[in-house]
Amino acid sequence: MPTYEFVCTRCEKPFSVRTSIGEKDLVRCPHCDAGSPRQVFRSCNFMRGGSGGCEAPPRSGFG
Ligand SMILES: [Zn+2]
Repeated sequence: MPTYEFVCTRCEKPFSVRTSIGEKDLVRCPHCDAGSPRQVFRSCNFMRGGSGGCEAPPRSGFG
């Protein structure tokens, strides 16, 4: 099950949730219970397998 990263649009706290892709629209903020958080996409590549984290510097001005 993938982990999705969100930022709450109410309290602006980041959090991550493990959920299925069909249920990520139902995610609520664990801090203030607001719905419809903004999803955050990391600039690193999930396809690289793993545990290495984000080590490549952003080069394209993402965000
Ligand atoms: Zn919140």
